[in-house]
Amino acid sequence: MSKTKVKQNKYEFKAEIKELLNILVHSLYTHKEIFIRELISNSSDALDKLRFESNKGTDIYQNDLPLEITIEADEKKNLLTISDTGVGMTKDEVIKNIGTIAKSGSAEFLKQLSKNKEQANNIIGKFGVGFYSVFMAAEKVEIISRSFKKDAKPIKWVSDGMGSFEVTELDEDVPRGTKIIIHLKEDAKEFAEKYRIESVVKKHSNFITFPIKFEKEQLNTISAIWREPKSSIKKEQYIEFYKFLTYDTEEPLEIIHRAVDAPIQFNSLLFIPKKNMDIFGFNREDYGLDLYIKRVLIQHKNKDLLPEYLSFVNGVVDSEDLPLNISRETLQENLIFTKISNSVTGQVLSALTKMAKDDKEKYAQFWKEYARIFKMGYTDYANQDKYMELLRFDSSANKDSETLISLADYVERMKKDQKEIYYMTGSSREALQIDPHLEVFKRKGLEVLYLYDPVDEFVISSLAKYKDHELKSVDQVELKDLDKFKDEEDKKPKAESLSKEDELQLSSLLSKMKDILGEKVKEVKVSERLDDSPACLVNTDNTMSASMQKMMNIMSNKEEIPQKIMEVNKDHKLIRNLLKVFKADSNDKYIAEVTEQLYDTSLLLEGYLTDPHKLVNRVNAMLEESSEWYTEVKKLK
Ligand code: ADP
Ligand code: MG
Repeated sequence: MSKTKVKQNKYEFKAEIKELLNILVHSLYTHKEIFIRELISNSSDALDKLRFESNKGTDIYQNDLPLEITIEADEKKNLLTISDTGVGMTKDEVIKNIGTIAKSGSAEFLKQLSKNKEQANNIIGKFGVGFYSVFMAAEKVEIISRSFKKDAKPIKWVSDGMGSFEVTELDEDVPRGTKIIIHLKEDAKEFAEKYRIESVVKKHSNFITFPIKFEKEQLNTISAIWREPKSSIKKEQYIEFYKFLTYDTEEPLEIIHRAVDAPIQFNSLLFIPKKNMDIFGFNREDYGLDLYIKRVLIQHKNKDLLPEYLSFVNGVVDSEDLPLNISRETLQENLIFTKISNSVTGQVLSALTKMAKDDKEKYAQFWKEYARIFKMGYTDYANQDKYMELLRFDSSANKDSETLISLADYVERMKKDQKEIYYMTGSSREALQIDPHLEVFKRKGLEVLYLYDPVDEFVISSLAKYKDHELKSVDQVELKDLDKFKDEEDKKPKAESLSKEDELQLSSLLSKMKDILGEKVKEVKVSERLDDSPACLVNTDNTMSASMQKMMNIMSNKEEIPQKIMEVNKDHKLIRNLLKVFKADSNDKYIAEVTEQLYDTSLLLEGYLTDPHKLVNRVNAMLEESSEWYTEVKKLK
């Protein structure tokens, strides 16, 4: 062959790829066999692309060649060859695809690898660097390729995976497609053995949809398992197919297999993985369903068959009605495609609904893994009824954040005469539990949903209602509306009631406090809702919850603190003492300090306080004073 070379060219691998190769060759020894899976998968992609071109009516070189993958091995020479009759590559393409131009995937792969080496074999195929895994087993690799384009020249690519590669255009003709010749390393010569090859192909590549031939025998079974009746498929087959599809080593959490006949005909085989694959911070692009038309793969990882909030679902959809020559760009506008995608979305939501009903534990597992992404479904208005039933929340009635409830659970245990669903938003369960707004609800035994995931606020405000029940934030509730509910818990050991005279003094104290705070509050008044806290802030109108206002601030880039009403707990020791101070000297500066402090701490609890300096200075000054008193009381020197 060397005689027929017309041009010879030597190229350096991109730095990142050199680093990748170095790691592959020197430190990844486990599961070397996956290089076969990666090469076969590339061949299969190349065949899919060819079939796609052919369906489009493109003029194809050697159009009569059967679409297949062939493996040859020579044990004596330590050679393994994998060939396909796919699209092939021209010189420019091979240089672009293997070796030089931007392969951002390799940087990302290296980053993930540095976090967890064990994962290497499961993830290598996901970063567009699968080809290089061949150098785990090869001391030299040759690629002979002939593009499907009619007037292309065949090429030969050679590398030992060290730092550079050579590409030559060939003059003689070779069959269309790509042949990878692998010169196996001494410690990888097992991959030239018949039984080893057979077992590796069966294990990793059994579901490839083109024949994989080895010594005249076809190794894979090629069955479109999603087209077969459910009853004829064993669970192990589903699992095997799932692992093939996702490279996951675990079984899926859920398998959804449906055949739809009317009004449109399609098959779907969908999986929900046990673990959210996104934990590796993968390629955000690495999701979607494989779209087949009449068993022909049209698009790998189509992103429009399911809405993004269900993007954790893997699988295959195979349509009978879409035209084979459809272009990927116009898919989204195709009416049949839209109907299929609506129907597939429905299938996933129904499967989840069934899971939530029949297997609560499994659903809890699902929720734990996918709640974050699933909640984004609040924008899917068409499916809002189903979506709402699938939501889970923490609540004041739960013992801990492990046990979650649905809106239906909430409604079922609502009080007689209760119409609304109460919720509160905050930064954590702990923060919500000590929020003063909760106190009156606790006392009356009214359950309150705890929302502390940032997306919850969007979810709640876009739902607004569950069945006939309005969703209402506790800081929007008018206290008089709660009068119809009897106290279940007694108020904390009742403070002695105030004398008439003291009541009068108290209302002067409250006016004084209003003067101190000025425009920051609309009013300072006695609270009916507080048991444990000395004071809290409530909204002047009940149109918007505090957290919604904060979000509006963020969106409009303002730092406005809306004017609020300050409510004071007149039975609280602090307020009683403040009253004493007030009675002795209504202008005592201690009153101003405490009032400002109560206001700032309330702001802090509501998440409004942006500058804590004043608050901290005041606390420190007060601590200093109290330490004086403390040492006096304890008679310390
Ligand atoms: P990925 O398959 O994820 O793109 P790989 O490293 O496995 O990443 O392959 C890189 C690229 O090399 C492929 O995208 C493809 O363009 C090209 N390639 C590899 N093998 C073949 C083949 N057998 N036929 C045609 N092109 C191939
Ligand atoms: Mg690949």
